[in-house]
Amino acid sequence: MHHPLNDAPEAPRTAFTARGGEPLNLEPLGSGSNTADVVIVGGGIGGCSAALHAAEGGASVVLLEANTIGWGASGRNAGHVAPATKHDPDEIIARYGTEAGQRLIDAAEQGPVLVGDLVKRHGIDCDYSFSGIIAASHTVAALRAAEKRVNYWQARGRPVEMLDRRKAAEMIGGDYYLGAWLDRRGARINALAYTRGLARAALRAGARLHERSRATRLSRDNGKWTVQTATGSVQADKLFLCTNAYTDDLWPGLHRGIVPVRAYQITSKPLREDVRGTVLPGGQVMTDSRRLLSGVSLYPDGRLHFGGRGPAFGPEGEPHWGPTLGRIRQIFPQLAGIEIAIDCWWSGHMAMNNGNSWHIHELGPGALAMLGCNGRGVALATIYGREFARYALGAPARDFVLPPSAPKRIWLKPFAQPLVSALIRYYAIRDGIETRKLDKHRSQPA
Ligand SMILES: Cc1cc2nc3c(=O)[nH]c(=O)nc-3n(C[C@H](O)[C@H](O)[C@H](O)COP(=O)(O)OP(=O)(O)OC[C@H]3O[C@@H](n4cnc5c(N)ncnc54)[C@H](O)[C@@H]3O)c2cc1C
Repeated sequence: MHHPLNDAPEAPRTAFTARGGEPLNLEPLGSGSNTADVVIVGGGIGGCSAALHAAEGGASVVLLEANTIGWGASGRNAGHVAPATKHDPDEIIARYGTEAGQRLIDAAEQGPVLVGDLVKRHGIDCDYSFSGIIAASHTVAALRAAEKRVNYWQARGRPVEMLDRRKAAEMIGGDYYLGAWLDRRGARINALAYTRGLARAALRAGARLHERSRATRLSRDNGKWTVQTATGSVQADKLFLCTNAYTDDLWPGLHRGIVPVRAYQITSKPLREDVRGTVLPGGQVMTDSRRLLSGVSLYPDGRLHFGGRGPAFGPEGEPHWGPTLGRIRQIFPQLAGIEIAIDCWWSGHMAMNNGNSWHIHELGPGALAMLGCNGRGVALATIYGREFARYALGAPARDFVLPPSAPKRIWLKPFAQPLVSALIRYYAIRDGIETRKLDKHRSQPA
């Protein structure tokens, strides 16, 4: 069986773990054959959202998670909850057409609201707040792209605004960028606690969830799907694969449509009292327009959370501390002279693909898969999980907010590792060149 990733089976230690809610400690699937309306493979946000919504709608649900709930990207991400897919509205319309495109734009916009409603309705303690997201621009072209986005949303009366260089510097706590845009609809979350909370809500709604239950074999007989684990099997009308970057060979070839890339997250020990209040003083989370992302946020106790670089393939390796800390000090020059002591670091896999976008596939009668998060999925996996639940209850896949597509093989996948590694090096060079241009720009008066 194809096991592309070699993360240890125990729950990852992340900054979210300490306040991540109690682990669920669920029993593996029992021996013998079990039946349900729906069997879900994967206990991340996507699978748990599907289980919760389907069980609430009256379906009988069994969810199988190979490790523990939230073990995958859902328990390892940065916790930024964006009200959009990765693409601009005009790109989405060009890709899916006016009607379907608009439906996706509008549904994605409601993502943080949907997450907030679930958190409230199910009493999930996961530090959810509509903090707002700052997206900073490091080139003139990125600034123009940000203006275009802001114009689109402002025309629709949404609470987004451009921040000029001075205002961006004030809100970020460093004058590194040419400007930024602020999206007040964005939120932050402890995503591990959220995933576990969704799973608990699904259990309360009557779903049966099992940890340490890797689905190892699939078959279809008499119009039903049978999923086998080492201990038992489940027979169901509907089969949902929510395994994303961690997709194995359960559905032969499905993993050929994505390239799992390891991404690193780091938290510092609380920053010195005298500088802490100067970093993102309004409590927003931020990203920037560079190709190699730098998501940053500050926790209320003064710990800084930031994305870093490290070995993208193979076993987890140490983050590349030099470029990672160098970038943080570039954004926040007040941290240049002081030690940034590391509290915790970890990594997780993102499912990358050609189109940089999620896909929903109808694989066979009653069988769906969602994958291709490309690093954006806290809200989107919640939405798509709810769509899967609608399907479980009778809605056709063609009505989904993300139109289903046929699985597409990435032909160059056998060469993905050297190609993506080369691309990352190229991006680092481009970022470096643009950063030097930015330095020139910054030497001009604001
Ligand atoms: C480092 C990092 C930072 C990120 N930051 C953000 C962010 O700030 N904001 C944002 O919106 N998104 C972010 N993302 C993306 C986001 O985390 C994902 O889009 C989202 O968690 C995907 O959820 P999922 O349920 O589809 O997959 P996952 O959470 O990865 O769950 C898949 C699960 O399937 C299980 N599984 C696999 N095979 C089997 C099998 N055969 N049988 C049983 N179980 C199986 C795995 O064990 C795993 O638990 C980030 C991702 C990473 C890695």
